[in-house]
Amino acid sequence: MYANPGNVFMVVAPSGAGKSSLVKALLQQDPSIELSISCTTRAPRPGEEDGREYRFVSVDEFKRMRDEQNLLEWAEVHGNFYGTPRDRIDLATREGRDVLLEIDWQGARQVKQRFPAAIGIFVLPPSIEELESRLKARGQDAPQVIARRLMAAGGEIAHAPECEYVIINQEFSVALSELMQIVSSARLRFSSQAARHAELFAQLGIPAEH
Ligand code: GDP
Ligand code: ADP
Ligand code: 5GP
Repeated sequence: MYANPGNVFMVVAPSGAGKSSLVKALLQQDPSIELSISCTTRAPRPGEEDGREYRFVSVDEFKRMRDEQNLLEWAEVHGNFYGTPRDRIDLATREGRDVLLEIDWQGARQVKQRFPAAIGIFVLPPSIEELESRLKARGQDAPQVIARRLMAAGGEIAHAPECEYVIINQEFSVALSELMQIVSSARLRFSSQAARHAELFAQLGIPAEH
């Protein structure tokens, strides 16, 4: 029997590096990847919809989910709580579907403990100046929120070495194509191929991984 957990991709980056834009574009190209919708206690930004970008919850509700072990991981980021609901990811990986998480480094570390094969992808801005101008140009956060996120950027970037892959998001189309290549290579790994083509592998007498 060839075991197959679906791939777990974690996209990690300082705020404003472009992770949400890259992930959105990736999912448009490849709708078979399931995006994990996090819970957060932060207020929705203009245009954000409950259940689409995040499940927006109160602090009490968040703590209840956490205490009832409904979160795969959780962390306090920029003064708000964020967490990944457990049920959807457990089901997707068991059924062999790929899932993608947009989480911070603290969360990525916790997910690695549960799914050691999870693939970390760190998105870097081309410079700190560019990060600042992207956060300002996005125009969705108050100046003090932007300042706080910029202050936190160095702390997040310091954890880049914990990821398997790094993308420098200078030219968006290049960064997107690199992200797609990472997804493709993960799917070509022995364990994924053996699970996807179990019958062929069995016919050819290929032994399961040890
Ligand atoms: P963004 O950085 O501009 O995308 O702003 P967000 O408010 O969407 O995210 C804030 C931080 O929370 C980022 O570092 C995210 O990676 C992190 N984050 C989002 N969802 C989760 C989650 O479910 N778990 C954890 N641990 N972190 C999360
Ligand atoms: P994050 O989710 O990491 O906080 P976003 O995806 O919201 O980042 O991107 C931050 C801002 O930068 C957005 O306004 C987005 O349109 C812009 N952006 C993303 N990638 C690039 C790029 N390669 N070049 C210029 N602007 C970009
Ligand atoms: P924003 O508030 O700008 O949407 O997100 C800020 C940061 O929170 C992002 O950098 C994102 O990585 C992180 N984040 C979002 N969801 C989660 C989550 O479920 N878990 C963790 N650990 N971090 C998250």
